[in-house]
Amino acid sequence: MKRKLAGKQGNRPLISGRDSNGYFLPESLAEAVNLLGQAGEGLKVLAGGTDLLVDLYERLIEVEGWLDLGLIPELREIKVRAEQIEIGAMVTHAQLEKSENIKKTLPVLAAAAAEIGSPQIRNRGTIGGNVVTASPAGDLLAPLIAYNAVLELVGKDGVSRVPAGDFFCGPKQTIMKRGQLLSRVLIPRPSSGTIGCWIKIGKRKALVIASISLALVVRLAKGGVIADIRACFGAVAPTPLEIKAVRRLAGGKRLEQLDFSQVGELAAAGIAPIDDLRGTAAYRRNVARELLIQALEKVQSTGGEIIADQADC
Ligand SMILES: Cc1cc2nc3c(=O)[nH]c(=O)nc-3n(C[C@H](O)[C@H](O)[C@H](O)COP(=O)(O)OP(=O)(O)OC[C@H]3O[C@@H](n4cnc5c(N)ncnc54)[C@H](O)[C@@H]3O)c2cc1C
Repeated sequence: MKRKLAGKQGNRPLISGRDSNGYFLPESLAEAVNLLGQAGEGLKVLAGGTDLLVDLYERLIEVEGWLDLGLIPELREIKVRAEQIEIGAMVTHAQLEKSENIKKTLPVLAAAAAEIGSPQIRNRGTIGGNVVTASPAGDLLAPLIAYNAVLELVGKDGVSRVPAGDFFCGPKQTIMKRGQLLSRVLIPRPSSGTIGCWIKIGKRKALVIASISLALVVRLAKGGVIADIRACFGAVAPTPLEIKAVRRLAGGKRLEQLDFSQVGELAAAGIAPIDDLRGTAAYRRNVARELLIQALEKVQSTGGEIIADQADC
């Protein structure tokens, strides 16, 4: 398989070294899809490598070759259009954190990206890698669901789009098929009355995987009526999770008409946590309740300013 693919490399740049025959650096998405379509499971799609190389080091994966997406320009772009924001799969956390456009239009996502790992991890790690790894604790997943993002997948059968909320089906499991790549994340441009909050709880303040996280996005219509509200948690279930009961209860009301304790109870009841080394299930239910109450209070008290918190537990 390696030889067959290597024979199609032409003049494309190759990384020299002993693995150069199995290392592909396509310069277009079409070329990447073509290479992936011809390969077996052993050809690994490489973005920043911050998850993949850990798996390799721990011998959790078998690698026959690498398909490095690093030279495909369109995957690195952030485009702000009238209707939606388009984020290429190879956009790094550092780009999201620093982009004035993302900070202005999707502040909850920018805040989550800013708290990932360390500067080194944020410079390498990508939105695409975070999504495809599909860790329940992946920090960008809850904000993407809260912003109603759509994931664009490309494979030999063409392009398909799937809401982020339908993409994850278990810890590290997604609906993506073999031979498909994640090309872009498409997010409807939030209207001017959209406010939100990001809170990540971990055992320390840096280089920490979330024990629990919350992305709250509230869209207020004229007169302060809640037109849409999405409370999405990370690390409380096998997949990132929106508590849809919050939408049903709060939609059409004003923030000050809500009983925040009652809304918090919906979070405690709606999550499906496990006991693990970052916290017990009972702890996570308590924290989920309190986090949602805290987030609602903050959103209400700041009247729209974006908030990002990282707390110790
Ligand atoms: C020290 C450390 C700290 C970390 N801290 C955090 C943290 O605080 N929060 C957090 O959420 N994560 C954290 N991570 C995990 C990791 O950095 C992120 O998940 C990161 O976003 C992964 O992106 P990547 O580009 O490095 O992905 P890679 O490792 O390159 O790829 C990850 C997976 O996605 C696949 N893939 C990547 N891009 C595509 C694509 N476009 N199409 C199809 N498949 C693709 C790869 O094949 C692989 O299976 C940390 C990791 C380390 C090592």
